[in-house]
Amino acid sequence: MSDCIFCKIINGEFNTEFVYENEYAVVFKDINPKADTHLLVVPKKHVESLNELDDETLLGKLMMTVKKVTKDLGIKSYKTVINTGKEAGQEVFHLHIHVLSGKININ
Ligand code: AMP
Repeated sequence: MSDCIFCKIINGEFNTEFVYENEYAVVFKDINPKADTHLLVVPKKHVESLNELDDETLLGKLMMTVKKVTKDLGIKSYKTVINTGKEAGQEVFHLHIHVLSGKININ
């Protein structure tokens, strides 16, 4: 989507450094980290939120991406969060998985 910030990041419009990239997803550091390590795993396909997801396989691929990236970075303990909907704290309406590790500062 042209006005989606994560689509712009995926398209390279902000020169965001990708920690990892595969066929389905990109992984980059959260700009406002809530933990010592705070990564975002973002599908290349624009899906507004989990509520709009209709591809049964995509979430599994994203979670396998979480596993791959954390393993590559030597991170053994981490929390994954998906905010779905404004009232739950979703600010960017492009599905993403937060990966948090170390000292975590979320409610
Ligand atoms: P959520 O509240 O679950 O929608 O999370 C959106 C996250 O995207 C927040 O933690 C923001 O800090 C992060 N974010 C917003 N813009 C950028 C950006 N340009 N680069 C990296 N992270 C971003």
